[in-house]
Amino acid sequence: MADNIIPSFKASDLVIQLSSSLKRKPDEFDYGAVFTDHMLTIEWSESEGWQAPVIKPFENLSLHPACSSLHYSVQLFEGMKAYRGDDNQLRLFRPTLNMSRMSNSAKRACLPAFDQSEFLQCIRQLVEVEQEWVPRSDSVSLYIRPTFIGTEPSLAIMKPGHALLYVILCQVCPYFNTETQAVSLWADPKFTRAWKGGTGDCKMGGNYGGALFAQYEAQDYGCQQVLWLYGEDHQITEAGTMNIFLYWINEDGEEELATPPLDGIILPGITRQSVLELTRKWGEFEVKERYLTMAQLCSAIKQQRVKEMFGSGTACMICPIGDIVYQGENLHIPSQDKNSQLTSRIAKELSDIQYGRTPSEWTYLV
Ligand code: PMP
Repeated sequence: MADNIIPSFKASDLVIQLSSSLKRKPDEFDYGAVFTDHMLTIEWSESEGWQAPVIKPFENLSLHPACSSLHYSVQLFEGMKAYRGDDNQLRLFRPTLNMSRMSNSAKRACLPAFDQSEFLQCIRQLVEVEQEWVPRSDSVSLYIRPTFIGTEPSLAIMKPGHALLYVILCQVCPYFNTETQAVSLWADPKFTRAWKGGTGDCKMGGNYGGALFAQYEAQDYGCQQVLWLYGEDHQITEAGTMNIFLYWINEDGEEELATPPLDGIILPGITRQSVLELTRKWGEFEVKERYLTMAQLCSAIKQQRVKEMFGSGTACMICPIGDIVYQGENLHIPSQDKNSQLTSRIAKELSDIQYGRTPSEWTYLV
């Protein structure tokens, strides 16, 4: 169905109820724990359709204990950021791609469709209301968490007849401190994040809750994140909340930037898409979406064909990978040994766009 004929709420109906008491902005940033003064909520029910969007003081939700998001994980979310440039202008980075990924997740979760552009306009207004929360810094930003939950007050396993779309905001610093150290990954095929025909390509909470146990095991092995493998041949898929890139000399002797293809088990990252588009535009080396196995990576490391490896995602942006623990061995990736030239060049080009130092059609002004 075309986006413009979806029955949806309208940004022009937005009601803004401002809070009478504003919080003190924190001096230090704790990842994801301090939220801003307001939130956006939009209710939906099968009988009445979408209600008018409301920006209101941040508050707890009141949910029926049987609600379908709590029992059956009928829920999903998105993650994007607002950046303040040196010119004081606030910018979002390619938010229409978040809207379209969110719509795909909603379809898979049997949650109702909405007009992506109307929702983005409501989010823009929320960020505008909270503009003082967008830090004056080029390492800190305001994280935007659109969330969509089934609120059906029934234990029946069915399409929810009630749902709530809402957006909350919090200040964030980069997820890892990669200025001093590349991240380490733990790769063990005994855990699987996602599988063909599953929901790994949707941003649903169950994918993340189900990954926690492995994350703690990675930490027990002294690593920061899990590198998720798939299948008998231990295909590399993604790591933590990052897509994975390998910059190497491939088996045919070509200089190549490679990332696993979107075959349903990988989240289609917006940073991933941007890295692919950026480096393809440079035209300086092969850029491929292709399968990569641990055996291929191990032999490339032995033959010194691996130049750099990095993760990409909204939280970390571009994050060099230094070590992978796999089958009792520590595989060292020389990402930071030679000043990670490609990793830092890509990181700089993207952050120049995000903070408005480079004009780009990927920028959405608030
Ligand atoms: N993979 C997973 C599992 C993620 O949660 C994320 C974060 N959204 C990513 C990759 C990177 O996606 P993006 O570049 O859109 O943040």
